[in-house]
Formats: sequence, structure tokens, C-alpha cells
Amino acid sequence: MTHPPIKRAEILTVGTELLLGETIDTNGAWLAAWLAEHGVDVLRSVRVGDNLTRMVEAIEVGLERSDLVVTTGGLGPTDDDMTREAIAAVVGETPEVDPALEGALVAWFEATGRTMPEQNRKQAWRVPSATILANPNGTAPGWLVRFERGGVPKAVAALPGPPRELKPMVHDELAAHLTFPTSHLWKRTFKVGQLGESTVAEMLGDLTQQANPSVATYAKADGVHVRVAAKGATEADAAALGEPAALQVEGILGDDVWGRDEDTLAGVVLAALKRRGMTLAVVDQGTGGRLLTMLHDADPAGETFKGGVVGLRDDAWRASDLVSDGPREPNHDASTWARARFAADAALVVGDVRPVDSETGPLVATVQVATQGETNEETVRLPKRKPEWVRSRVTVQTLDLLRRRLR
Ligand code: ATP
Ligand code: MG
Repeated sequence: MTHPPIKRAEILTVGTELLLGETIDTNGAWLAAWLAEHGVDVLRSVRVGDNLTRMVEAIEVGLERSDLVVTTGGLGPTDDDMTREAIAAVVGETPEVDPALEGALVAWFEATGRTMPEQNRKQAWRVPSATILANPNGTAPGWLVRFERGGVPKAVAALPGPPRELKPMVHDELAAHLTFPTSHLWKRTFKVGQLGESTVAEMLGDLTQQANPSVATYAKADGVHVRVAAKGATEADAAALGEPAALQVEGILGDDVWGRDEDTLAGVVLAALKRRGMTLAVVDQGTGGRLLTMLHDADPAGETFKGGVVGLRDDAWRASDLVSDGPREPNHDASTWARARFAADAALVVGDVRPVDSETGPLVATVQVATQGETNEETVRLPKRKPEWVRSRVTVQTLDLLRRRLR
């Protein structure tokens, strides 16, 4: 039997603890990313409990649509580990103890000074169509079972549940037995600071409806990411599809885009300052120190970000005699003070985040953006949410205000 490339796959993670919410299904996410990286379309990823009937049903349904069903879990020695039984039922074969596997299993236990419990013998099972996937990190070998359904080649791969056993088995064993479509992925991500996800989606209109190239929006901590992706038979084909769509997206979002791909907002702002030969200082109340941390992490040597002060409450500001000449509150004078104190050309001063009028209504923070020429006062408005989220948004919007000023 020749084995054509795997075009479509489904993932079936097995374990009642996944359905109870006790274990988070990281295997499903990890396998999905691995398959996508190899040009495989993952049509569905599902979880089932340790239940033979439902496992068989899920594998059958998956095989109707896809070339490959990958399972994780249920390869242990106990009665509720039934993945082997389920696959045997699907292919209509009877598992038998494989002498080589049995020998290896017995030796594994002997090496750890134990005799193999009788119930572990099922880990040496094999159905005739299974290729064994070695597991150097545990007792349960995996299976890659190939067969035909109505003349169409199909495969089921059974992998262990523990991630530290699963991942090496995929990289070292499964990958060697499968072939993948020769498709190349072209991608570019644009990052937007001030607009909400629905606004961005509205601006992009029909662009988000198409499949290849695809345009999708994601709400992230540093703003909205717009990812343009295209698939093609060669790298050039993929780029020929992706580039024009990316240009269109960039044209629509214009100045709202603060960066691409691996860019960080603090990195982009500091680079813009550096190009102008400028340095920066910060006085912060509203971000609770996040702004300073972000700038410091992007410029640990302090070439451009010269430093700053944080005070979380008004009384903390009043106590800022600690810095004897310090600002009494994060007001207009603070930017002048910060620029002088840190010998910086520009300053950001972020005031406290306060409710506009009622405790449940929207919030505002005043942000001063001071450069050599002028000091502008801007207002950041946000819905009332958890303090953590609010601080993170104020940080992003503050940096984006400075970025716009420097444009
Ligand atoms: P074992 O021989 O350890 O019983 P197994 O192949 O039968 O292996 P499971 O019993 O299903 O696997 O799971 C063993 C452990 O692996 C779980 O307790 C859990 O910590 C982890 N695990 C299982 N499935 C997943 C999953 N989908 N995502 C993340 N971790 C998982
Ligand atoms: Mg188990």
C-alpha cells in the first residue's frame, strides 16, 4: 500500500479527567499546531471519556472526513485504558501480545528492580496492521495503524497521554512514518493599539470572509492582531497570494498599525525615540508600574529609557519627599520634573485611573506626552473591568500615544 500525504486530520484526546475539567487538554492544542505546521488541515479536535463505545464512534466519524485520526491517552495498563481496544474494533482486528514488545516491557520493569504486573501485559499488544512507535520515556508504545476504507488509505495513530512521552514520540517516531502535503504557509501579523476587535473587523469587511489568503483578528494584551496567512504549493505561490492581501490590510488600518510580527510596542516606541536621538523618562500611577517594566525589558541597558517613578495612590505621591524634589502628584509639573531629573528629552506621565462619574461606569486616565517641543494632555477612556486588564490597556494606549506623537 502506498501512503499518500496526510491532507486532513482529526484529533481525539481521551480521558474522563479531560471532560471533568481536571486536566486541561494541552495535547489537543499541541498536536493541532504541529499538524498545521506540516500543512495538514485539522478539521476537528474532540475529547472523549474512557468509554469504549464513544471512542469507537469518534474514531469512525473522524475517518469519514479525514485521512488520519490521532488519539492521545488511554494507553496505560488499567482496565479504563481502552484506546487499543477501540482501534482494534475500528479495524476489525484482534490484538495479540507481541513477543518483542513483551520482552522489552519485562526488561523495563527488571531494570527498575520490579516484576511486571500482569495487567501491564496489554501494553505489549499489537494488531496486525499496527506499526509500533517506540516510547523511550514510558511503558506504553504507540501505534500507527494503516488500512483502507472503500479503497481510500486511512490511518489512526495512538499516542500516550503524558506530554513528556507524547512529544518525543511525535517528533522521533510518528513524523518519520507520515508524509505531508508540500504546501507552504506565508503569514504576516499586523498589530493595532487603540481600536477594539469588532471595530477592526468592521474596517476589514469582506477580507475576513475568504479562506486563502485568510485574514483573521485576535484580541491580545498588546492590542488587536490581524493575521494574514496564505497557503501555496511553493513559497513563491504562497507569498504571491499573501502579499497583496497584506498590502490591502495595511492600507485599511493605516496609522493604527504600531507594528508587525515579532515587534513589541515598547520596542517600537524606543526605536522611534532612538532614531530621533531622544531619551525618555516616566512618571506612573495608572499602569501600576507596568509601563516602566515594559520599557525596561525592551531596553535593559537604559540607552533610551532613562528611568521613572511609580506611585500607586495619591498619598503615596504626597510621600514622594522620598525623592526630595519629586512631583507632589502626577500633574503637569511632573513631566518637567521627570525630564530634568532623568536628563531625558521626552516624558510620559500617567495619572490615576478614575471613574468618569459613577463607580460602575467607564474609566479615564490622563496621560501627558511631553517631548522637547510641547506637552500634550490626552485622555484614555476604558470600560470598567478588572484592574489587571485596565492597567494593561492603559499601558498599551500610553505607549501608542507617544508612538503617534513621534510619527
Ligand atoms: P498512562 O500510562 O500514564 O496511564 P495513558 O496513555 O493512559 O498513560 P492517560 O492515562 O490518559 O494516558 O493520561 C496520563 C496523564 O497524562 C494524565 O494524568 C495527564 O496528566 C496527562 N494527559 C493525558 N491526556 C492529556 C491531554 N489531552 N492534555 C494534557 N495532558 C494530558
Ligand atoms: Mg492511563
